[in-house]
Amino acid sequence: MNSAGRGSGGFDTGHSPRHITHWIGGRPWLGTAQITTGQVTTGQVTTGQVTTGQVTTGQVTTGQVTTGQVTTGQVTTGHAGSGQETQRRGEVYNPATGEVAGLVDLASAAEVDAAVAAASAAFETWRQASLANRASILFAFRELVKRESAALAALISSEHGKVETDAAGEVARGLEVIEFACGIPHLLKGGFSENVSTRVDSYSIRQPLGVVAGITPFNFPAMVPMWMFPVAIACGNTFVLKPSEKDPSPSVRIAELWAEAGLPDGVFNVVQGDKVAVAALLGHRDVKAVSFVGSTPIARYVYENGTAAGKRVQALGGAKNHMVVLPDADLDLAADAAVSAGFGSAGERCMAISVVAAVDPSGDELIEKIKDRVAKLRVGPGNDERSEMGPLVTGPHRDRVAGYLDSGVKEGATLAIDGRVHPVIGGDPAGFWLGPSVLDHVAPGMSCYTDEVFGPVLCVVRLPTYESALGLINANPYGNGTAIFTNDGGAARQFASQVEVGMIGINVPIPVPMAYYSFGGWKASLFGDTHVHGTEGVHFYTRGKVVTSRWLDPSHGGVNLGFGVNA
Ligand code: NAD
Repeated sequence: MNSAGRGSGGFDTGHSPRHITHWIGGRPWLGTAQITTGQVTTGQVTTGQVTTGQVTTGQVTTGQVTTGQVTTGQVTTGHAGSGQETQRRGEVYNPATGEVAGLVDLASAAEVDAAVAAASAAFETWRQASLANRASILFAFRELVKRESAALAALISSEHGKVETDAAGEVARGLEVIEFACGIPHLLKGGFSENVSTRVDSYSIRQPLGVVAGITPFNFPAMVPMWMFPVAIACGNTFVLKPSEKDPSPSVRIAELWAEAGLPDGVFNVVQGDKVAVAALLGHRDVKAVSFVGSTPIARYVYENGTAAGKRVQALGGAKNHMVVLPDADLDLAADAAVSAGFGSAGERCMAISVVAAVDPSGDELIEKIKDRVAKLRVGPGNDERSEMGPLVTGPHRDRVAGYLDSGVKEGATLAIDGRVHPVIGGDPAGFWLGPSVLDHVAPGMSCYTDEVFGPVLCVVRLPTYESALGLINANPYGNGTAIFTNDGGAARQFASQVEVGMIGINVPIPVPMAYYSFGGWKASLFGDTHVHGTEGVHFYTRGKVVTSRWLDPSHGGVNLGFGVNA
C-alpha cells in the first residue's frame, strides 16, 4: 500500500524530520486529488472552474484554477496558477533527545471531509459484508498486529517516550480488544421469539450506525484507538480516527496493517490533526457517533457539541486515582503497587495511581518503603533496555508537572522525594526528564491534589480512618479508577460497594478491565452512557431493531382497527 518514497508508517524516509500524514481511502494522503473533467474527488469547489491540474486538499470556494497544482490550503478567491504551500503542520518530538523527529500534517476541514467521504463511500458495501468475512479480516489483522508488536512498541516509544516493554504491554492490551471483536458473529446475535401472537414471530437485530469517529489522547497511541475501532468495524461501521498530534505515527502503521489484512479501502481512515479536525468531525453531518478519550475539559466539549449535533457520543475524561492503604495491608505489596502504578509510563496513564490515601498508622512505614524502591528505579530512554521509566511526552508538559513540586511545597506539603535530582541513565540532557517524585502530607485543596498532574508525582494524604478515605474519594470530582490494599475481606467488599468510581482494584493497583468487560469511569471521568469495548462497545456502535413478522397463511383475520393485542 505504500507509495513511492514512503516507508512503513506512511511517512517519508531518509529525511529528518520525517513527514507524517493522513490515511484516507486505503492509502497515505499524498495531497493528490485528481481533477480530470471538472470533477472534484476530494475537497470542495463551490464556484468557479477547475480545468486542469490538481486540487489536493482544501477548498476552492471561488475563482478559477486553470493550470498547475493547488497542493494544500485554501484558494478562496482569484486564480491559482501554481502551487501554494500553506499546510499547517505540528512538531513531533523524540522525548528522549528533545529533538523534533517529525512534522505531522494538521488536517483542515476539507481533509476531514475527504476522510469522511471515503468512509461514507465504503459504508454501504462494508455493512453488507458477511459476518464470516468481517471476522476473517479481523483474525488476519490480529495476526499482523501480533507479528508487528515489537516494531509498533518501538514506534510508540520513539514518539511517546515510554519504555518499549511498557509500549509492548499497551499493544498486548489493544490486541485483546481485537481478539474480542473476532467474536463478532456471536456478539451480534439477536433474539427470536416464535409465536408472539398466533403465527406471528418477533426478532431483534443490531445494525451499524455508519461513519463513526475516534478522537484519542497521546498517552496510549495504539491501545486507546484499539479500544474503539476493532469493535466499530466488526459491527459494520466505517471509521475515521483522529489520533493525538503528539504521537501520530502508530495510527498510520495500524492503517497499513488493516490494508494488509484485506480491509476494503475507506473502512479505516486516519486524519492527523488538532482542534480544527475535532471541530470538523463534531460538525460533520455524516459522522454518526464519536468516541473520545482525553482530558476532562475536552471530553465535556466533545460530548456537549457532539450530542448537540445529534451524534451518539461517549467521552472519557481525566482521572485522579486514589489507592487506599489500610493498616492491616501487606505494606511491601502496597509499596510495590504504589511505585509501579504511580511511576509506570512516567505517570502518564489514566489509570495511574496519583494519590495514596494512607490510613493511620500506615503512612510513615509506607513512605520509607516507597523511598527504598524509588531510589532503585532506572530512568532513561525508552529504547534502552535498562530503563524502567522514560521521559515525559513534551518539554512544556514536563515543566508543568515539575511545577507541582514547587506549588505543593508552597501550599504546605513535604517533598519526600524530588524527582528533579533523580539520575538519568544514558539520556540526552535535552530530553524531557523528570524522575519519580513523592509529595507527603498533601491535603485536599492543594493544586497537586485538585489538578490531574499526569506525571510521575505521587501525592500521599494521611487519613485517620477508612471512612475518611472513602469520603475523600467520593468527594473527588473524578471517578475513573481506585484501589484498596487490605487483608480484610469485609472492608474490601464494603469499599467495592460504596466507592463512587467506575473501576475498582482490590490489592490490584491498575484495575483495567479485560476486553470482554467494558472500560470507563464515573463522574467527570466519563460523559455519556456507555463505556468502551466489551458488550457496551458493541451496543454503542450499533442500534437495535425489532421485526415483527407474519407470513401469509390461509387464515386471514380481516380488518381490525384496534391496537394489536396478542392472542
Ligand atoms: P487532550 O484532551 O489534550 O487531547 C485528547 C484529544 O483531544 C487529542 O486528539 C487532541 O488533539 C484533542 N484536543 C486537544 N485539545 C483540543 C481542543 N481544544 N479542542 C478539540 N480537541 C482537542 O488529552 P491528552 O493530553 O492527549 O491525554 C491525556 C489526558 O487523557 C489525561 O487527562 C488522561 O487522564 C486522559 N485519558 C483518559 C483515559 C480514560 O480512559 N478516561 C484514557 C487515557 C487518557
